[in-house]
Amino acid sequence: MVKTNQFKTSLTNPKEFTIAYELVPGQGFGGKQVDRLLDFSRKAKADGRIKALSITDNPGGNSALAPAAIGEELLQIGIEPLIHFSLKDKNRSQVASHIFLYQRMLMHSLLVMGGDYPKLGYYGQARPVYDLDTIQALQLMQDVENGYYPDHKLEKKHEQLPSPILFKGCVVSPFKTTEAEQVWQYAKLLHKVRAGADFIITQLGYDKRKFTELMTFLKQNDIDLPVLANVFIPSLLVTRAMATGRIPGVLVADELVARMEREAAAGDTRARLNRAAAMIVCLKQLGFQGVHLGGNCLDFEDIEHVLDRVKQMEGTTELSDSDCDFPIKDTWYFYKPMQNSMDKSSLTPLIPGTRPGAAKVHELSHHLLFSDRTLTGRLFGRFCLFCAGGKYRTKILRFVERFIKRLLFNCRMCGDCTLARAAYLCPQSGCPKQLVNGPCGGSRKGYCEVFPDRRCFWVRVYNRLDPHTTIETLTESPPLHPKDWALEKTSSWINHFKNNTS
Ligand code: SF4
Repeated sequence: MVKTNQFKTSLTNPKEFTIAYELVPGQGFGGKQVDRLLDFSRKAKADGRIKALSITDNPGGNSALAPAAIGEELLQIGIEPLIHFSLKDKNRSQVASHIFLYQRMLMHSLLVMGGDYPKLGYYGQARPVYDLDTIQALQLMQDVENGYYPDHKLEKKHEQLPSPILFKGCVVSPFKTTEAEQVWQYAKLLHKVRAGADFIITQLGYDKRKFTELMTFLKQNDIDLPVLANVFIPSLLVTRAMATGRIPGVLVADELVARMEREAAAGDTRARLNRAAAMIVCLKQLGFQGVHLGGNCLDFEDIEHVLDRVKQMEGTTELSDSDCDFPIKDTWYFYKPMQNSMDKSSLTPLIPGTRPGAAKVHELSHHLLFSDRTLTGRLFGRFCLFCAGGKYRTKILRFVERFIKRLLFNCRMCGDCTLARAAYLCPQSGCPKQLVNGPCGGSRKGYCEVFPDRRCFWVRVYNRLDPHTTIETLTESPPLHPKDWALEKTSSWINHFKNNTS
């Protein structure tokens, strides 16, 4: 049985390079697949180099054995479980109850992520939840750690109830290929860190310069959280699937696919393992505190080979970039090439606001109607509050609001309007995950994970932003709180003025 959090101890020790490995439970609660995972875990425990086994949570949006089941067995085996805490299937009550569940089961390490959009399931596609985004879920966890239990009053209950001890990770992709996606990824990362993330894991990718950029970005922003680089070891079949966009948010260079085709033709079954070892050595040199390994059709003996090879390669000169660097053609980079300096001049100049549409007109109208610094705003506020005082006046105002906003913004009348925070585009109708604080990691070349023929909603937002927007201005306002669904179908105009006068 695990007594201390080995994963945390290792990751927070600057002298250690931490190895984690991803287990992927499938459907059902037993059988060969579960036996194989447990066999891997026992061997990993005996070997001692892997400090945590992360357990996916309905990976790929498909239903699977819940991570707590495997987590409990890992604790018995004596190896730390790192639970993937995905938000696609959990509303805020489920988020809270799972925090309590994992604490009760002594599983302290959680990797918070949005999760892949649900796929076809029992009688069709499951309804996606995404009640909280990753920033809001991390904030909720931090509140509970500080003794504020997540009921409607957010009361401090540390005297009645124990405070959990969590080790919370977040995910970032430094591998986005367009400016808008990459800037949003880094903006969200800053928010996640402020919301209490304790460590960072990268999404999977194979571009050395992009890995370097992440480390530079963290240094430039004085973030000294430990970072694990994702080293995914795909088979040729999975690499082909990634190259054709079938894995959300993942891109693979044609060069890597071609190389793997050649290796397969030559019958070189260890090439992918040796490449992973080369990547690990390279990432260690770049300053990553560890790696999060994963892959398909791998046994413990394969990972043992990778780790042995890392040992052999360290201190030798045989490492070349061609073994571990596979950039995507025409990728946008956050920093100019070969920049070692930490000052702002090393940043690639940003070009937001290239397709502003009617954003300026909406901004002016918003200022005139909702700002208490304008006479029109104050008058409109009084009018809305007057309408709120009568049942029929409220109904008429709501009808007018719905008519105008449906026409202009395809509004869904959520009652808690966030248009002004998304360049006057509506995330309730525009983003399939209805995210209000920036995009998920699933976009690909600027297009949406869920509807690949549509531009990502947040890329469209970026293209409408003020041209002077920087990463600082994007993150200066605190993230939006979770939506209050009690307001759905009510007038957001009335709600706005009620909130601002109470
Ligand atoms: S619109 Fe963008 S943020 Fe929303 S689900 Fe699609 S890719 Fe993710």
